[in-house]
Amino acid sequence: MPESINDLAKLCVHTQTNRPWNLEQCIRNYSGAGIHAISIWRHLLDETSPSDVKSLLVEHEMDVVSLVRGGFFASSEKPAREAVIEDNLKAIDQAAAIGAPLLVLVCGSDPGQSLEKSREQIQEGILKIIPYSKDAGIRLAIEPLHPMYAADRSAITSMAQANEMVEQIGDYSLGVAVDLFHLWWDPDLEKEIKRCGREGNLFAFHVCDWNVPLKDMLNDRGLMGDGCINVKQIRGWIEEAGFKGYSEVEVFSDKYWAMNQLDYLERIKYAYLNHT
Ligand code: ZN
Repeated sequence: MPESINDLAKLCVHTQTNRPWNLEQCIRNYSGAGIHAISIWRHLLDETSPSDVKSLLVEHEMDVVSLVRGGFFASSEKPAREAVIEDNLKAIDQAAAIGAPLLVLVCGSDPGQSLEKSREQIQEGILKIIPYSKDAGIRLAIEPLHPMYAADRSAITSMAQANEMVEQIGDYSLGVAVDLFHLWWDPDLEKEIKRCGREGNLFAFHVCDWNVPLKDMLNDRGLMGDGCINVKQIRGWIEEAGFKGYSEVEVFSDKYWAMNQLDYLERIKYAYLNHT
């Protein structure tokens, strides 16, 4: 039975999910498939001007949910930390230029120093960019990553750590992006999602699945229903915590990138409608 537009009303797709497509192909094909929300990965903005992006989004009635991604604040080298602040300010400008209300932060980590030191630098970095992002009307979301990335991608590896930092900074424009791939294993997840919602800090929800066995730590994510994550249960917790936003499909997968992307998009819709 064909799905109604309403069934897909809370479905958003990250452009990186369809990596073989450029931004225009993503926008046209999502819209053609009845999907009207998109999260845009930054490198695609190198190919298309912000005004062209905006008119494509308007023409296809596409809601832009977030720009992905800023962050990478941690480094033992001061010049690198300064350069990354500049890059985050540029990302905020880009988000404002295309009408994206949220910038997702992958916060970074440097294996040459302690995780505590990296977290200090993350907090300093966020504090430096918040005034600029608020002026631009852009919200920021810390995305905690799975602990397997603690060495070099994110020193923030749990919901509790993300909640703590967001609460310490205490600014209404800073929140958390919950990504199932990174957080499904956490015994405190339900409790920490509730805490995040109660504090008004639940800003985004990224969905996918954990394949068993996992063949690659980056590019072997599953579609919902492929793996071992109880997606519906966690989506229930997210909704009970008051989140009313989109479920954003964010799947990096060599297997799916090798498929015909239009066929794959139908599988994404099926996985969203039946397993999310
Ligand atoms: Zn994510």
